[in-house]
Amino acid sequence: MLTRTLFEEEHHQFRAAVRRFFAAELTPNIARWEAQGQVDKSFWRACGEQGVLCPDMPEIYGGAGLDFRANAIVLEETSYTGSATPAFGVHSDIVAHYLLKYAHEDVRQAWIPRMIDGSAIACICMTEPGGGSDLKAIRTSAVREGDQYRLNGAKTFITNGVTADIAIIAARTGAEPGAKSISLFFCETDRPGYKIGRKLDKVGQASSDVAEIFFDDLMVPAHYLLGAENQGFAYMMQELPQERMSIAVTAHSAAQRAYDLTVDYVKQRQAFGHSLMEFQNTRFVLAELRTQLQVGWAHLDACMSALVAKQLSTAQAASAKLFHTELRSQVTDACVQLFGGYGYMNEYEIARLWKDTRIQRIYGGSSEIMKELISRAI
Ligand SMILES: Cc1cc2nc3c(=O)[nH]c(=O)nc-3n(C[C@H](O)[C@H](O)[C@H](O)COP(=O)(O)OP(=O)(O)OC[C@H]3O[C@@H](n4cnc5c(N)ncnc54)[C@H](O)[C@@H]3O)c2cc1C
Repeated sequence: MLTRTLFEEEHHQFRAAVRRFFAAELTPNIARWEAQGQVDKSFWRACGEQGVLCPDMPEIYGGAGLDFRANAIVLEETSYTGSATPAFGVHSDIVAHYLLKYAHEDVRQAWIPRMIDGSAIACICMTEPGGGSDLKAIRTSAVREGDQYRLNGAKTFITNGVTADIAIIAARTGAEPGAKSISLFFCETDRPGYKIGRKLDKVGQASSDVAEIFFDDLMVPAHYLLGAENQGFAYMMQELPQERMSIAVTAHSAAQRAYDLTVDYVKQRQAFGHSLMEFQNTRFVLAELRTQLQVGWAHLDACMSALVAKQLSTAQAASAKLFHTELRSQVTDACVQLFGGYGYMNEYEIARLWKDTRIQRIYGGSSEIMKELISRAI
């Protein structure tokens, strides 16, 4: 990898601390968390103590006041352990930012510090059983009744759905179809009417608790509305570029991990009296992957730099999500091939990386939706 110029000394120190912490507290637990289908809540609190959560939140709420580069370090280091969890992206890069930008000050003061110290885990409820790509088709309703809103509806595929203490909910506050009457709400998950459905059985990302959520006459105070009524779709469009960068960062780091594991493997695995590394095919495949990763890091850092400078456009973020998740798929697939049968065994980390890869081309906006967004800028 070329020397990365995106990061400064404070970031290098932060990365070293995160890496040490994950080596001691995350890596030894991956298999257990995968078996139980979720991360221990106590780990989130440990992350809070280490300053791993929401590092870019302002100091007035207890944050470190850093920028997205610190969040990216957490994502990169998580991915590089070979684990898909905890879902720091949803928590730190998405929900914390909705609260910071759009929540009532009482909500901000009550909950951002708890997101930072890990005593509150967050989820975001956008997708509905009827469709995720078409966010304008959201059917969950929120009806104003005095100083409260009454919410009814169903969400699905919600990351952190079982463990979350707080949620952001997208709901329809008017009769107008499409984007015009969508609003966003904050909500505690222990409110009457907030119901957690099935924890969903997934192909990969086994330690990520993804669930159905139902709102059955869920009442929330009027000041839990984020920003202004009927502006939710516009807010989502503003926040999605950062969400997409989170996914791109995770994807590229996981691809690097898969490549590094594979290099180690092919050097020691023997066939026909030679190490796999001695075959021209192996060397050429790895040379191609290494080249793609090198180019990818440069692109990723350029996008992060633009994001920090608030200059990353929707189309550029969509390109990053599209490129890095597709690249991760190509890289991990080629790596599994070089592992042979062992690459298909669950006990091998490369198999987990491969299984965890597939969803990244679907969630946070599918590759097809990314192409739609990019093409609109042409
Ligand atoms: C593990 C996991 C975690 C998730 N976490 C969350 C979460 O925390 N919060 C949340 O709100 N959602 C979450 N999601 C939902 C995710 O964002 C959606 O699954 C995704 O947006 C796709 O929506 P869908 O599944 O309804 O597919 P659909 O919208 O039904 O799409 C099906 C297929 O049609 C294609 N398609 C749709 N529209 C078009 C079009 N206009 N042009 C071309 N092709 C099109 C899609 O690309 C896709 O290939 C998660 C999903 C999974 C599986």
